[in-house]
Amino acid sequence: MSTTTDQQPRVAVVTGAGSGIGAACAQRLALDGHAVAVVDRDLDAARLTADLVTRDGGTAVAYGADVCDSPVVTSTVESIVTDLGPVGILVNNAGILRDAMLFKLAEEDWDSVIDVHLKGAYLFSRAAQRTMVEQRYGRIVNMSSTSALGNRGQANYAAAKAGIQGFTRTLALELGPFGVTVNAVGPGFIETAMTRSVAERTGADFEALRGRMAESVATRRTGQPSDVARAVSFLAAEDAGFITGQCLYVDGGLTLPSLPA
Ligand code: NAP
Repeated sequence: MSTTTDQQPRVAVVTGAGSGIGAACAQRLALDGHAVAVVDRDLDAARLTADLVTRDGGTAVAYGADVCDSPVVTSTVESIVTDLGPVGILVNNAGILRDAMLFKLAEEDWDSVIDVHLKGAYLFSRAAQRTMVEQRYGRIVNMSSTSALGNRGQANYAAAKAGIQGFTRTLALELGPFGVTVNAVGPGFIETAMTRSVAERTGADFEALRGRMAESVATRRTGQPSDVARAVSFLAAEDAGFITGQCLYVDGGLTLPSLPA
């Protein structure tokens, strides 16, 4: 496999890598020369991504794990260290949507969204940081969202994604002295199963939604998982070691202020 950089190969863990952005991150990090632990609650989906990586000449092992399950996260990270070696890169990407306006937002939908995004990132980071601190090297990239800035019908998701940014800055402060950088990526509208599910749930035609979203941003197009994976690869690189505590929006300009002409 020809790699995109000549940085030292590491072990990269990507959660929620059975589809969408996580799968693209796994493929991209493999192209960068890293061995990838493909983690998803759906082991079959994780295996499909791992197969794509190995088909292209990379190294990948699939793991079935729910990021919210503390004992499972601990044993999964132990297995990864045994199978592939100490973790050098962690991408906390697993995510779900349970959208509703506040007056209809069910408690279980609040809890599940906060759990998958925040508790999941906390559990995996806590388990992985041990080997990073021992190595005096690490790159953690957490998946935030433009929804962190507020989005109708997403009080649970926006709170989780804004929480991810505070979590990121705090870990950056705590782990920086040990050679570990911690950053976030904030995607805008990216074409994945997640955004297709939004169209389905609201009864909108996906192509029409995609067209509207494209028209609303400076780049006049919607994002692809590979757009986000490129940013993750950049922040996960060895020579990005002076960048920490940041959130890099990958949104085609969605978060730019729109000033009156
Ligand atoms: P996706 O295609 O639905 O992928 C998310 C993956 O995470 C799925 O494979 C999902 O499995 C897995 N997952 C969910 N809960 C899990 C758990 N408890 N443990 C382990 N794996 C779990 O969505 P995506 O669009 O690629 O989203 C990836 C990340 O980007 C998420 O954090 C999302 O919030 C964020 N994001 C996406 C967009 C966008 O426009 N797509 C924008 C901003 C941020 P199941 O399929 O079984 O649920």
